[in-house]
Amino acid sequence: MKIRRYFRGSGRVLAFVFVASVIWLLFDMAALRISISDANSQLLKERVVKEREAVRQRATRVTHVAFEHPVQKVDAGGGEGVQSLDEVAQVYRRQHRKQGGDQKQGLVGRSNALRSVAPKQDAPQKDRLPAKKAVDLQANGERTQAEKVAVKATLPGVVSNATKVTPGARDEKHAPLPPSKNNLHNVGVTVQATLESGDPKAKEKVEFEPKAMSPKPESHVKAVATRAAKAPAKPKDVEARKEKADETLPGGDPNGAEEPPKPEDGVAKDVETRKEKADETLAGDDPNGAEEPAKPAAEPGLRQGAAPVGNSSAAVTRKPGVHRVYSLDVTHAPRKANAVGQFGQAAAVPHGKEDESKKRWDEGHFNVYLSDQIPLDRAIPDTRPQTCGENLVHDDLPTTSVIFCFVDEVWSTLLRSVHSVLNRSPPHLLKEIILVDDCSTKDYLKKQLDDYMSQFPKVRIVRLKEREGLIRARLAGAAIAKGEVLTFLDSHIECNVGWLEPLLDRVYLDRKKVACPVIEVINDKDMSYVLVDNFQRGIFKWPLVFGWSTLTDEQIKKNNMTVSDPIRCPVMAGGLFSIDKKYFYELGAYDPGLDVWGGENMEISFKIWMCGGEIEIIPCSRVGHIFRGQNPYKFPKDRQKTVERNLARVAEVWLDEYKDLFYGHGYHHLLDKSVIDIGNLTEQVELRKKLKCRSFKWYLDNVYPDMDTPLVKAEGLIFNRGLRKCLTVQKGSLSFETCDLSKQSQHFNYTWTRHIRQQDLCVAPQGQQRGLTLDLCGKAKPSLRWFHKSSTPDLGEHILSESTLDRLCLEAGLIGAAIHLKDCEPNNAFQKWQFTHYYVQ
Ligand code: UDP
Ligand code: MN
Repeated sequence: MKIRRYFRGSGRVLAFVFVASVIWLLFDMAALRISISDANSQLLKERVVKEREAVRQRATRVTHVAFEHPVQKVDAGGGEGVQSLDEVAQVYRRQHRKQGGDQKQGLVGRSNALRSVAPKQDAPQKDRLPAKKAVDLQANGERTQAEKVAVKATLPGVVSNATKVTPGARDEKHAPLPPSKNNLHNVGVTVQATLESGDPKAKEKVEFEPKAMSPKPESHVKAVATRAAKAPAKPKDVEARKEKADETLPGGDPNGAEEPPKPEDGVAKDVETRKEKADETLAGDDPNGAEEPAKPAAEPGLRQGAAPVGNSSAAVTRKPGVHRVYSLDVTHAPRKANAVGQFGQAAAVPHGKEDESKKRWDEGHFNVYLSDQIPLDRAIPDTRPQTCGENLVHDDLPTTSVIFCFVDEVWSTLLRSVHSVLNRSPPHLLKEIILVDDCSTKDYLKKQLDDYMSQFPKVRIVRLKEREGLIRARLAGAAIAKGEVLTFLDSHIECNVGWLEPLLDRVYLDRKKVACPVIEVINDKDMSYVLVDNFQRGIFKWPLVFGWSTLTDEQIKKNNMTVSDPIRCPVMAGGLFSIDKKYFYELGAYDPGLDVWGGENMEISFKIWMCGGEIEIIPCSRVGHIFRGQNPYKFPKDRQKTVERNLARVAEVWLDEYKDLFYGHGYHHLLDKSVIDIGNLTEQVELRKKLKCRSFKWYLDNVYPDMDTPLVKAEGLIFNRGLRKCLTVQKGSLSFETCDLSKQSQHFNYTWTRHIRQQDLCVAPQGQQRGLTLDLCGKAKPSLRWFHKSSTPDLGEHILSESTLDRLCLEAGLIGAAIHLKDCEPNNAFQKWQFTHYYVQ
């Protein structure tokens, strides 16, 4: 009985335990779910917080400011031994790895741990596939060369389920493109050409026939640049050009393929003719092995649902909307592997040609002779971080108009620039290439260029009647652009594999993002393609000097950055970037009052940040650029004057009270507006108001907090060592008192414009008597400027008058609290002064 009871009892207990466990399990599962979704929202919150923190954390000072581009010179293996681009790319990566330990992403000189840290918030999720899932298509040795080319170009619709589209991305208003097969046409082959020629008559007719190709010009060698008069762009003129362009470019086709107006001209036949002509032209183009520039690949990216390539074991789902970035490169396997400069390798001037090469240097301020030997469509190594090829971008990216402005550009570099865009851009995204000829003087840039470009229907040429300078030339290009995004490029660049989509993807994600590629270096002497160090961002130093700065390890770790994450940039270098066209105009484009060259990168950078946008460098997009030691073209006015005038315009409109820092760093002379006319700024100031842009202080605090920007050089009491008293203002004049921090009358600022200032009053020399007085501060007056803490030996603590020819110093008089200007004496303690706080030495 007892036993039965016991069993009954324990049965109850067991039943109770069972029921309890079931309930417990249910609770547990629910809790788990809650905690997962909690964790998700927590993660999201953390992201936002981190993002905000990231900005604050940049308050850490930049430890390394390199105004020269920090480059990684890579010897790709000496040419003969390297037969394919894959091999070169691998050599580059090997070199990178060597320098960066065993890192796989070319993370030079940085901790390997960075690779495995959690991804940075800012970057799209796709940038953060776990390392083991990253597949290097190029390193995949199992494929044949042909397959590799195909694979590199055909990976749409492959989406790892580890990858998510950024929320909200699809809500953007860009019109989706039709299915990709129809979008992808052969650039320059199925589209008809429209060229605007320099000849006003020729302008009237629309060129649809392929023109006869002319052999490589000789004339450009002899052409001499002449000074061209410069005048502001006439809006009417631009308008007229715009209309003309609208007329001549039938642009109804959403695929970007403009229909030829003559149906009888069979496209296929046309293609054939063009191809033949192109072959002819280029065959004669370079005896040294510059082969026919490769034709853009036909229909890349058509293998919908292609199997994932490589060793990724992740389950792959097909999701409409994104695809792996097209690593399209029709020069991937160039026919002449041994051509000069092929694969981006260094070229050498042959024996006996040194003089010629030297003589031609000035045509472009780089090795023009060598450039002319190198194939116009040479291959360059894929220098992207390895994960870039795996990244996903949206299927319905906006189209872009690529705008090249040029003045007297070297023929071969201009053409190489254009070919690199044609050969390495997904055709459906490349609406057109606009070449804006800023009134070049070289003959070869006229008819010969028209003729050459007529084989590429997407290329349009705009000729400016006056030399406008790069800023207004870009504006003229933008005015006729039909793409949704404007992509500005310099006319001596080489776009690398997969350069375009990562830029457009950022603009797609947020139309106020302005995306810049990593600017790599095409060596001016040997034309080699040199990859630059990772984690570079564009910054400025006073007086508005652009430079590169490497993110510190601390910044990288704190923001959990990988080498492929976008990098927020306080300022852009200026030459290469993509911007949403409408947004560009909303921002008021460039200040059209900027002349020729210089300062426009500052202007657009401040404008973008202060008026609600962002500037990013996108490491998965890389473009080589020839950095020249000198501008090879003439400035219609003096170069220095032009640049400083531009900068002064920028400072006056955007820098608020910080403009003193600009003037104070060597530009005092610009304060005198009777010496320099910086032009009318009303429109620019109005624009800033209209856009309700933030203050420069906001910009410094939020975008560039690691920049140290005290508003004055020194402040507080001014203590005289000999008298052991402080300078004070009493009844409108200067005298001395026992130092007292609480007295406002003893507080002075030593400003960037080198004034000793109390409110609106400045210490000023008085008459011939070498006395001193207080004068209203007028910034232009040189008499109000004082050197303090000057680098003059022995006069470090003295205050020297800047206005007198003799070296005169401020001296405290023993009698009657007087202050005078006296000849400077290094050891005289009455000439030694000290402010309470110094912000700069
Ligand atoms: N440019 C132009 N008009 C000018 C000055 C420059 O069209 O008056 C073009 C130039 O040919 C180049 C681009 O603007 O394609 C940028 O100029 P540059 O390369 O000299 O600038 P950098 O790279 O030295 O900053
Ligand atoms: Mn340039």
